[in-house]
Amino acid sequence: VITYDMRCAFGHLFEVTRPSSVEASNAACPVCGEASTRHWSASFAVGARASAGPSREQMPRSWEAVRSGERATVRGWHELARKREALEQKHPELRGDARPFLAHEGRFAHRPLRAGDPLPGSVVERASRGGQSVNGERSPDAQ
Ligand SMILES: [Zn+2]
Repeated sequence: VITYDMRCAFGHLFEVTRPSSVEASNAACPVCGEASTRHWSASFAVGARASAGPSREQMPRSWEAVRSGERATVRGWHELARKREALEQKHPELRGDARPFLAHEGRFAHRPLRAGDPLPGSVVERASRGGQSVNGERSPDAQ
């Protein structure tokens, strides 16, 4: 889950917590009930937080989660990702599972497939039947 800093039309600031795949905009302001939008200056203010920021696990992976590419949102996440990367250079123990995601949609939405994960049997079967490699890697029994 991710905690978003939100700001309503009247300037009330509050936080909402959402799964990383769910967009937080339009959360009703707890004070006045108005719709809200992300409050980026709070999220990215230098020195505003001592936290390490969201881990890679918490960063959005779907197009919807970055508001279909809305620029401020994408820029904000890029900035967070860049800071996280710099932090991980200094503190490799924070890196966690840094293997790239190969698939994160459809059947993989809840359990993304990462490089090195065993492929589900049906995917391997389809790949070898179609003569296509999956992600550039030959399945063990297709040699
Ligand atoms: Zn409000």
